[in-house]
Amino acid sequence: MTYSSFISDTLSKLSSLYPPEEGRAITVRLLQHFCGISSYEHLVEPWGAISPEHVKDLEFAVGQIAAARPLQYVIGYQEFMGIKISVEEGVLIPRPETEELVSWVLSYFSSPATLRILDAACGSGCIATALMSKLPKAQIFACDLSPKALEVTARNLSSLHDSSSAPNSSSAPDNSSAPNSSSATNVFQYDLLKSPVGFPVGDLDIIVSNPPYVKESEKGQMRPNVLDYEPAEALFVPDHDPLLFYRALERLASAHLKPGGAIFMEVNENLAEETASIFEKAGYASVEIKRDIFGKTRMVLCQI
Ligand code: GLN
Repeated sequence: MTYSSFISDTLSKLSSLYPPEEGRAITVRLLQHFCGISSYEHLVEPWGAISPEHVKDLEFAVGQIAAARPLQYVIGYQEFMGIKISVEEGVLIPRPETEELVSWVLSYFSSPATLRILDAACGSGCIATALMSKLPKAQIFACDLSPKALEVTARNLSSLHDSSSAPNSSSAPDNSSAPNSSSATNVFQYDLLKSPVGFPVGDLDIIVSNPPYVKESEKGQMRPNVLDYEPAEALFVPDHDPLLFYRALERLASAHLKPGGAIFMEVNENLAEETASIFEKAGYASVEIKRDIFGKTRMVLCQI
């Protein structure tokens, strides 16, 4: 089989699930992943032959993708802020809007040397991992209710740590230029909807969170690859109380942020004002709503 024939076969198999542009992007990513080629080799050499073993792997993968299993679960990762984040069923696949949230956090503090940062409801740990990579001197914590999320987060944090330890670099614990160890104690189970009593970390400079915020009634706008495979508990909230996680985050932030600390949240584009007002009513010093690149009110920052 050639690159060209694989691409045209796959596009037709995916055409009922994905628009042509997205189907093509998925197909090329499969070729890159399984055949180890660049993103343009199929253009330079469309008649290049795919080896029989690769054809087998590719056909198996296409079968799963045609059954709506997301590409990222099939290949096992999603790029996020330039880092390969390991994902599997049970954790949400990192989204581009969450990269914007992380970029906002990074642009906010001028001297990040000693920050203590919590990723609350961490899922795959993409926020914690990206922040650890960009702010190697910060102390990063991550919590989630789901044991699967904690397992995947710990894996992502530690693979960052492994990949950043150059053979000659010191592994001394006080080496402030190396990322902090992602010791298991920094990744812990916590149910945000319970009271903040008993929460194991305090004195936080920053909390970042992308909690569930899609209303049950908004499910109709979502596609089968999300609805059938991604964890509903990471996405959906009841229509009668869609901001329950943000009230919990306000309680957590009020109890555990240092004076001057801040909480950054991804929010439902239709509920940004209501989300902000939870923090305004709680007396926060400043509350700011930010739009994403599509102009949607997608992020809220509150400084205590
Ligand atoms: N942005 C995600 C989506 O629309 C939702 C993420 C979330 O609920 N926190 O698929």
